[in-house]
Amino acid sequence: MTAIFLAFSLTPNVSHTEQHHVAPVRFHPSESPAPKVWLVERKAGLEIYSNGLRIDDEFLTSTRTRSYHAFDRQTWRAAGGEARPAGIVFHTTESRMAPFEPSQNARLQYNGRNLLTFIAKNHLYHFVIDRFGRIFRVVAETDYANHAGRSVWADDRFIYWSLNQSFLGVAFEAQTESSDIATRAQIDAARVLTEMLRSRYHIPVADCVTHAQVSVNLQSMRIGYHTDWAANFPFREVGLGDGYSTPVAALTLFGFEYDSAFLEANGGRVWPGLVIAEEQLVQDAAAHGTTVDLYRRKLRQRFRDWKPDAGGSSADDMAGDR
Ligand SMILES: [Zn+2]
Repeated sequence: MTAIFLAFSLTPNVSHTEQHHVAPVRFHPSESPAPKVWLVERKAGLEIYSNGLRIDDEFLTSTRTRSYHAFDRQTWRAAGGEARPAGIVFHTTESRMAPFEPSQNARLQYNGRNLLTFIAKNHLYHFVIDRFGRIFRVVAETDYANHAGRSVWADDRFIYWSLNQSFLGVAFEAQTESSDIATRAQIDAARVLTEMLRSRYHIPVADCVTHAQVSVNLQSMRIGYHTDWAANFPFREVGLGDGYSTPVAALTLFGFEYDSAFLEANGGRVWPGLVIAEEQLVQDAAAHGTTVDLYRRKLRQRFRDWKPDAGGSSADDMAGDR
């Protein structure tokens, strides 16, 4: 047992072992640069963009200016302070729904406005897309929002910890349980909003993810503490390729696991990204001459020793978790 532990080291400085340990993010042929989108007009609290996007600022609030460290994927070291949004996390509001019928107009409108008031008061997301596809900016893009709580993601270069600061939160007024989670208008709205945000902040496809892909529980060391968009996020229709195929960073980098409750939330389906992450773990363990269980244990130990919260994120990062 001791010999096995001594046989490999996961300290960030050892570049030789590091090469085995780091799983490359797999990009997809569908991945293309974001189309160029620009602001055409701003008047009376409404912005109109070149791709048809319209953003309503009626419920706009602010918190504090975004500030975070991205961590180098190879070394796990903080790679300088950042104020630019690095990615997007998609959510559902899980709020009260009325049937999507003409006769329900009054209830649909009432629910939407109630929801926006609540979200604005608690600074829960940067953007909300209501059932009719109207887009409301609720927290300023320059500020953090309380949308992701304990969460982690990584692209091929950086690890992002606590995405309230580093990622923008975009919520669909929707419930995961309903048969059609999003309306046609919401999907179209998400597409033009995503195009604009990717264009404005140079956000790669690989950093556009759902809450279920990034949410973690530190007590149980499991992913999927929040399960919104655990399945059925319309990645392709929003112009984001096949997002569920990206290996889940918490599994490959930190040794997190998932349980049957999480798979249930996925509708019994296992994402390709979970399978690829598991395969990567098997390969990495073999490369270190150890078993998957022992390798995962070492990853977890390294994660506990990492203490990314010490790297400049504020207490606000921990507050929100929707
Ligand atoms: Zn969420």
